[in-house]
Amino acid sequence: MTLSHSFERRSLPLEDQFTIARGTQKTAEVVTVRLEDDDGNVGIGGAGPAAHYGETPATVEAVLPDLLAAVEEVDDRHNLQRIERRMRETVRANPAARTAVSIACHDLVARQLGVPLYRYLGLDPAEALETSYTIAIDDLETMREKTERAVDRGFGTLKVKLGTDRDREIIETIRSVAPDVRLFVDANEAWTPTDAITRIDWLADFDVTLVEQPVPAENPTGMREVFERSSLPIVADESCLTAADVPRIADRCDVVNCKLMKCGGIREAIRLVHAARAHGLEVMGGCMLESNASIAAACHLSPLLDYADLDGALLLADDPFEGVPMPDGEIDLTGLDRPGTGVR
Ligand SMILES: [Mg+2]
Repeated sequence: MTLSHSFERRSLPLEDQFTIARGTQKTAEVVTVRLEDDDGNVGIGGAGPAAHYGETPATVEAVLPDLLAAVEEVDDRHNLQRIERRMRETVRANPAARTAVSIACHDLVARQLGVPLYRYLGLDPAEALETSYTIAIDDLETMREKTERAVDRGFGTLKVKLGTDRDREIIETIRSVAPDVRLFVDANEAWTPTDAITRIDWLADFDVTLVEQPVPAENPTGMREVFERSSLPIVADESCLTAADVPRIADRCDVVNCKLMKCGGIREAIRLVHAARAHGLEVMGGCMLESNASIAAACHLSPLLDYADLDGALLLADDPFEGVPMPDGEIDLTGLDRPGTGVR
């Protein structure tokens, strides 16, 4: 059986510019992959390449022909284990590119069977989570307005980006207009261990739930120091890319942030979740700035997770793809009436 395929690069404007400790983005640069079998079944997947991990839309486009050729070599479309292995053997790096093809292959086989992806994976839709919504770094007034807007939209969990010289004012501002929301903090590697320990002491007074990536991934000793002195749970994001990183980070965090774009595919993401569990860690499902072409797949994995931070598509001005419904931020897998990831 032959498979036709195509891919397309898009620059999707964000609703608001998105600033974190290491820079600002105004668009989400994505590449979408489309597979079609002889019966007209279509599988869609997306890449949201992150420059921090060495990927760009150009690197994704450069390796996709080889990855799609590797998929063609596997006669059985349902043999996703072999498909992901062949892709990994073909292109060792470029996890976002491999993820786009992995999602498209999973979407295709689930659509061939006429079941949603979570059912194909045997997951419990009642265990799907609510996503947090990110408040990026901006001037205090804008952050206040964005927080009010997010609360009005029904989000019960916000993730606040920190790593500035006015972190305390930011948290005071957000708590002044959102006293009751669950609050996550993400420093994106911006603090020294001493900064982190001092800030976490007062962040606890603002009823913050967890603190993500306080110090650079290149400073594992600092991560350990912060973990030992922190009264709040510590999440490893930049410090944990694939399952192989879990044993190294397990004694210096409470939670790992599992992102499809770091893992390189749906099967590898599930492997990371199980590796983290075996080490007694909790798991957050995260994302880059992405469209629903890839966010939807992560939503189907949310029953495996403890926290979901899958707001990438919600930050776009206009997503060309429709994915899993998220009323009030609740990932609603039971409300999905379409097979595959549900992307259209
Ligand atoms: Mg993060």
